Amino acid sequence: MKKDSKKNGSAKERKPAPEKPVVKSPCSKAELDTYRGWLLERRNALSGNVTKMEDEALRRSRQDATGDLSSMPIHMADMGSDTFEQDFTLGLIENEEAELGAIEEALERIGEGTYGVCEECLKPIPKERLKAIPHAALCLDCKRKEEGEGGR
Ligand SMILES: [Zn+2]
Repeated sequence: MKKDSKKNGSAKERKPAPEKPVVKSPCSKAELDTYRGWLLERRNALSGNVTKMEDEALRRSRQDATGDLSSMPIHMADMGSDTFEQDFTLGLIENEEAELGAIEEALERIGEGTYGVCEECLKPIPKERLKAIPHAALCLDCKRKEEGEGGR
């Protein structure tokens, strides 16, 4: 039984995207376990935070909507500051969600055995950096480069 008997002419044979060579993690198993522990801890703390902040932001806006509105004229200034505060909270949530995403990716890299390798230059990320930021995906040089070019 041949699956490819009916070839679709329009579907070009796609060449697999040039993949970066897989560089094995420079960390020992014990080190990986340590980093995984930190990442999981941080993830727990963060996901608790995000949920709490989202709750608070929502509760605050609900209170505003159902609060003393009937007995009080709406002050534009009040509305403005509420919106600002809500934006601020949502901004924090965004940051923390970005960090959560980075943590997830780092945990995946631990699973794949590629943790601790700079995604850009494929050199090992210095341990001091991993200890400070266990979810770092780039070495400091590449991170600086990325940030330097971010404005363009
Ligand atoms: Zn690098």
